[in-house]
Amino acid sequence: MEVHHMTAKGRTFSVLDRNAHVRQLKDEHWDLIVIGGGVTGCGIALDAAARGLKTVLLEKEDFASGTSSKSTKLIHGGLRYLKQFDIGLVRETGTERAIVHRLAPHLVIPEKMLLPLTDGGTYGKLGTSFGLWVYDLLAGVKPEDQRIMLNKQEALQKEPLLNPDTLRGGGYYAEYRTDDARLTLELAKAASAYGALAMNYMEVDDFLTGKDGHIQGIQATDKLSGETLSLSAHQVVSAGGPWVDGIRKKAAPLGTKHLQLTKGIHLVFPHHVLPVRQSLYFDVPDGRMVFAIPRGKVTYVGTTDTFYSGNLDRVLVTRNDADYLVSAVNAVFPSVQVGMSDIVSSWAGLRPLIHQDGKSPSELSRKDEVFTSPNGLISIAGGKLTGYRKMAKKVVDRVIKTITKKSGISFSPCKTHTIKLTPEPFSSAKEVEAYTEELRKKLAGCGLHSDHADYLVGNYGRQSAAIVADLQLSVSASPEIALACSEVRFGVKKEAVARAEDFFVRRTGRLFFDIDGIEEVRRPVLNEMQTLLSWSADRRRAEEGLLDQALHDATHFAAQKTELNPTPK
Ligand code: FAD
Repeated sequence: MEVHHMTAKGRTFSVLDRNAHVRQLKDEHWDLIVIGGGVTGCGIALDAAARGLKTVLLEKEDFASGTSSKSTKLIHGGLRYLKQFDIGLVRETGTERAIVHRLAPHLVIPEKMLLPLTDGGTYGKLGTSFGLWVYDLLAGVKPEDQRIMLNKQEALQKEPLLNPDTLRGGGYYAEYRTDDARLTLELAKAASAYGALAMNYMEVDDFLTGKDGHIQGIQATDKLSGETLSLSAHQVVSAGGPWVDGIRKKAAPLGTKHLQLTKGIHLVFPHHVLPVRQSLYFDVPDGRMVFAIPRGKVTYVGTTDTFYSGNLDRVLVTRNDADYLVSAVNAVFPSVQVGMSDIVSSWAGLRPLIHQDGKSPSELSRKDEVFTSPNGLISIAGGKLTGYRKMAKKVVDRVIKTITKKSGISFSPCKTHTIKLTPEPFSSAKEVEAYTEELRKKLAGCGLHSDHADYLVGNYGRQSAAIVADLQLSVSASPEIALACSEVRFGVKKEAVARAEDFFVRRTGRLFFDIDGIEEVRRPVLNEMQTLLSWSADRRRAEEGLLDQALHDATHFAAQKTELNPTPK
């Protein structure tokens, strides 16, 4: 297996080198420009760079700031596709989740899921048993991990919060959990180690076309400096997620196929308020399926599925959305009875699905789709986190075919199934556990809790060592502050952290999973960023404002009604 490391042509991934990166953007003629730094775009950039293409990736906000930080954060095997009898897709997603686990075992972690069977529920015991058996078979799940069917007592033992009056048993099966934003970021970093130039806060405004009407480049705006740039390339690919149609329209009329966006939200409760022992996938009274997933100090619940036609750049959780999930939780865990005031954080994201005439929302496919416009723009949308590698391969194969036809240059075949996603990668889940145990001991000596070791390894893998080595403990500040400051120094120097929000939302997940902890570390982290990035007082105020808005959106519900048009995820 190939190990990802900084190659001779590898680039730094720091906002401190932004001026040099902007110069390189303008000076070079590129093979490929990728628009969009979500999981799809970053996957494409890695595949392309690893095959030898001179690749640029431009993201208008931060990496993973679109849908790729708003998912349920599972690397699915595609149980939902089984219900639709899409056997090929179940097999493909099952194979892919095993590959992604191998590429980043600290980030794609096995997680057992309990599917409770209840009186009057959607699922019967026989059907569930058979369905999960087929699911394991198609996904190539190892015998020791294959589903087991539980009787009522066994299911209650796994999850005592379930309602004993209606519970009849459960299916217990293998899934994987991840952090979508970290996965996306590690893909971008790996692409950069292979020589791709991946930049956040760089918005593509328009396309540049040649005399033959073919797209030959793009015009972009550096959103941190306001500078406008022109870039030329053999091929431009858009992986703009929910923005794909808006970008396509700038290149050519849309044609018959277009996106159909649906919104999905998640609510976060303190774990002591919703103390589930393990992850659950349960049906709610309207027949939809909802997840409840414990994660560190919290349990998060999701998701909804409603048509969306509002602002793409600020997607809000409405009171209706929250009511729906609160009712779902209270129906399945009647002894808990959470209320709106128990919600500590939330997020809302958009599924960039492909519109299909005459199909109801629940029938809309989650499959990806590639569109090629007459002037050469290739766009890709739809799909899942799980399928990012296959989607990237499909697009890059197409790009290479075009470039080879034009120039005669050939490139190597796809090898992303061998590229580990972090420097000094782990080779197995066992190795991750051993490393975490070592780190627990080390952190205890610094006054940090053993949970911090799980957090650090889950977020950064072996890169945790650099953060721990840089801890500046002092008597005047808590170890939590020292840790956050060390993390933000790492983030700025190694992970393209440019704004405070990048750090609190996508590099560390604190906004969702430790929102209460932000207050204590906020000032010192912003001070650290101000010094490192030479922020003016105005810039500092702007950053405070943006962070306040993110905190507000995660903790308040918009009043406007959204049509609840429930469809299974
Ligand atoms: P995005 O992540 O949205 O990326 C597109 C990027 O393009 C954005 O960052 C945007 O800022 C950028 N962009 C747009 N316009 C421009 C421009 N002009 N210039 C530069 N950049 C631009 N999948 C799973 O596998 N497992 C799950 O558990 C799961 N749960 C989900 C739950 C919900 C509620 C939702 C909504 C989706 C879920 N998915 C899940 C699906 C998965 O999250 C998406 O398929 C995936 O994140 C889409 O990634 P993307 O890169 O295509 O889009």
